[in-house]
Amino acid sequence: MRSDVVGGGRCWRGPFDTLMVSMHEARRLAYLHAMGISVWRLRGATAAGAAPTRTADGTAPARDAAPPRPGTAAAGSAPVTAPPDGRQTPPAQDTASAQTPAQDEPPPWTDADLAGLPAEDASMGLSPAGPADTAGEPSRAQAVAAMDWPALEQAVAGCRACGLCERRTNTVFGVGERNASVMFIGEGPGADEDRRGEPFVGRAGQLLNRMLAAAGRKREEVYIANIVKCRPPNNRDPSTDEAAACRAYLERQIALVAPALIVCLGRVPATNLLGTADAVGKLRGRVHRYGPTGTPLLVTYHPSYYLRAPEQKAKGWEDLQRMLALLDAAPGASP
Ligand code: SF4
Repeated sequence: MRSDVVGGGRCWRGPFDTLMVSMHEARRLAYLHAMGISVWRLRGATAAGAAPTRTADGTAPARDAAPPRPGTAAAGSAPVTAPPDGRQTPPAQDTASAQTPAQDEPPPWTDADLAGLPAEDASMGLSPAGPADTAGEPSRAQAVAAMDWPALEQAVAGCRACGLCERRTNTVFGVGERNASVMFIGEGPGADEDRRGEPFVGRAGQLLNRMLAAAGRKREEVYIANIVKCRPPNNRDPSTDEAAACRAYLERQIALVAPALIVCLGRVPATNLLGTADAVGKLRGRVHRYGPTGTPLLVTYHPSYYLRAPEQKAKGWEDLQRMLALLDAAPGASP
């Protein structure tokens, strides 16, 4: 095991490849089915002398898989995927609930933006309670840090600490098992989430549910929350100030759930929790640590990314295996 320093925090690279080998074949096939992948070509397959392909039900395909689409499958790149009916499918638009796409390009943040993050972001820790607003009066962060679940829900429901409150229909607190071993964190509510008051209920959320099912987990068994609890207009990224205003709520949620593993879905939660401007493509594949307890944290793409770029779904499978391997190894975490 090797320790590295990334984004000012600790991370380690574990023996994932060894652990991944032990994954049950049925789990992989369930993932392929969940992601709508009918043909799976092993990494390193080439057009000439291609490696054998498998269908999502584990049988051999009726005919050879279609050749890689131009520009999507260079030799040695991620496995080639094809839609079930064999037709080429244009990238889907997650118009209902899409968050700002998680992309490999460095996010358009500058050092000046990061310098504006609150101290707890820079230290990557759960924030220590800030100074009292006035003598004898706890700060909002201090008050939130002492809340139980009912008080926290009530505080979020009535919160007007940033401008996102102006246009919300509902606050989107979080959902799921409050003693979950794994906690997923997205960026913010979309239109569907704003309407229903629940995170990840649009197309991206449905894909997340299918991915969880492929991993043998139900949505109700994990906890899901967002960086901000109110919908940013036009599904834009939450601003640094908005994320900072909402941070105490998320930190309290993390502290109350006390998960064995945190999974950041996309660039916004990853950059906010890790205090780095690195792209998701650079952050995934390693285990980061969050907070004073050093909770393991993985970064993966937002499900909406896979809706727009289905050829990237193999990366979701890789990250899912990392998640399961970590949970299998975590003491006390349900497998
Ligand atoms: S986004 Fe968070 S901080 Fe801003 S108003 Fe909503 S609950 Fe309050």
